[in-house]
Amino acid sequence: MSDKRKITITSSLTAESNATRVIGRGPRGLRLETIAVRAGGEIDLDTGALSPPLHLSTTFEHGPASEAIHQFRYAREKNPTQLRLEGALRDLEGGLAAVVFSSGMAAAAATLQTLKPGSHVIFSDDIYIDMRNLARDFLPAWGIHSSIENLQDMDALARALRPSTKLIWIETPSNPLMKILDIQSIGHVARQAGAQLLVDNTFASPILQRPLTLGADLVLHSTTKYCGGHSDVQGGCLVVKSQELLDKLLNVREILGAVASPFASWLILRGLRSLPCRMERHSANGSAVATALAACPAVETVYYPGLPAHPGHEVARRQMKGFGGMLSFLVRGGREEALRVASRVKLFVNATSLGGVESLIEHRASNEGKLSRAPQNLLRLSVGLEHPDDLVEDLMQALV
Ligand SMILES: *Cc1c(COP(=O)(O)O)cnc(C)c1O
Repeated sequence: MSDKRKITITSSLTAESNATRVIGRGPRGLRLETIAVRAGGEIDLDTGALSPPLHLSTTFEHGPASEAIHQFRYAREKNPTQLRLEGALRDLEGGLAAVVFSSGMAAAAATLQTLKPGSHVIFSDDIYIDMRNLARDFLPAWGIHSSIENLQDMDALARALRPSTKLIWIETPSNPLMKILDIQSIGHVARQAGAQLLVDNTFASPILQRPLTLGADLVLHSTTKYCGGHSDVQGGCLVVKSQELLDKLLNVREILGAVASPFASWLILRGLRSLPCRMERHSANGSAVATALAACPAVETVYYPGLPAHPGHEVARRQMKGFGGMLSFLVRGGREEALRVASRVKLFVNATSLGGVESLIEHRASNEGKLSRAPQNLLRLSVGLEHPDDLVEDLMQALV
């Protein structure tokens, strides 16, 4: 394979150093909207195809003594379709590299598997339920200590730090209470303590929030959600700033094997093309639904960072470009009233997950089970791309 072709596959949009990167823009000053449409989309030199080829091959030709001839050897190490996706995610988040996994949880586990036994991790208190389960069920056996803290309280963070603290793990906006954490302030504390800061950026997507530009060291996505965007593919990714961490993650992924398949990579890359447009509409619809719910007498509280009354509104305005399509609300009364609303919607679908084109509603306490800290009268919405008036009308008829 010629050198020219190798460059093509590693994504030419990105051939540029971090130093010249403009914050909020990708390589060569391209804007995020352009990166989303074009990154990893280099034209296939063999055919001229615009749609990236889907390479299903698990193995690639090498020389008689295993000499590298081409850029690839075995699919679990890396493969061409996956590399395109990684280039696109790296540029959208503005990192050194992206590493894609078979699910968001696989990406999360890989991060924790890079830590040495004896390390300490601080998790923010309102995080995705399976992160809690991961910490509870697996970290003790790996010799990793963890604590869960309210990181809106910077004193609580300072108290929780130990000499062995290696990682601070936050989610903002959080699931399901839509809490906002100040990435810059927490990043500052992490740096002083010699710990790394991970931001789970699944709810915001790189279009609305770019944690690496705010001082985070790594970003996690469940690409199953907004990045894929169509409720038809499972995936996860990590975007990192440091070569050292990248090397560790690549080793964990290759040896433990939770790598993204070529087809999943292809679908997620396809999803990224429309991510900026979708996030704009998700945000507009989310805002319309939140505003209508806030004015409804049957609703006790609405948790949406776009509402001026939300306690995290000012921080969200500083660190986000829009407020997204996720929100939750408390139904006046209790569990029964909330379940009644969930049973009366006609357009919203009762389903878990988020970030697809269709609007979903979920009684989060039922989904999360015994460990759940979600209020019993809380309903979570993933507001999709339908007409906002139809969505509001559906909720209002369910709430009467
Ligand atoms: C869904 C989700 C995850 C886990 O991702 P999977 O792809 O389901 O493994 C992690 N974090 C957040 C915020 C999520 O919503």
